[in-house]
Amino acid sequence: MRFIGDYHTHTRYSDGRATVREMVEAGRAMGLEEVAITDHGPRNIGTGVSNARAFLSIKNEADDINNNQEGIKVLVGAEADVTGVNGEIDVPEDIYRQLDMLLVGLHPYVLPETSGFGMILGNPLYKLSGGMRRKVINTNTKALVEVMQRHPVDVITHPGLQMPIDVAEVARACSRTDTAFEVNTGHDYQSPATIQLAAREGVKFIINSDAHYPGTVGHLESGLALLQQAKVPIEQIVNVSH
Ligand SMILES: [Zn+2]
Ligand SMILES: [Zn+2]
Repeated sequence: MRFIGDYHTHTRYSDGRATVREMVEAGRAMGLEEVAITDHGPRNIGTGVSNARAFLSIKNEADDINNNQEGIKVLVGAEADVTGVNGEIDVPEDIYRQLDMLLVGLHPYVLPETSGFGMILGNPLYKLSGGMRRKVINTNTKALVEVMQRHPVDVITHPGLQMPIDVAEVARACSRTDTAFEVNTGHDYQSPATIQLAAREGVKFIINSDAHYPGTVGHLESGLALLQQAKVPIEQIVNVSH
């Protein structure tokens, strides 16, 4: 069994520490066939790309590497932010249509477009009462489901990290829209019980590192171990070949 690719990594274009080329070199050293560069969308406060057109510059760098046939294929995507409850994201369609992949994740520090969503985003969960906690979960879940209905999302990144969701409902929407549910080895926060909840909805899993520097590109073993612990069949994991 081996990993085909790592499809979630960051560079200096957003909050990563290395260049596109350095991240790709790291992926090749790990024996990957493919690596995807997926920087943060522009409304991620303090960590996003300066402007959505930065993704096109990354694409140019990737094209140069791919044209040289350096033994690894570079894909370019965006890790777009959810900026509202009606499916709004911070990477415009005319940009993501030119990329290889669209990843979307809920992050706590984004500039919202829907009034009220910012209040939800900015609320530390430990301060919330039961009813308010439910409301936050419902809002986060609805926001992700709407995004999948409106955009051709390939991966939902780190579902439930910092931003609580109804895992079964998000997984159901992933299955319906052919969107992969990420096992994120960089944050390493998921439990076998959560994975089983998602797996029951027939969702496909993708194991990604969310690497922000070369040292963790392709470090995916802990994600595979988690999926095995949750007894997820290998056919349900998209980036493992056997
Ligand atoms: Zn993220
Ligand atoms: Zn990320």
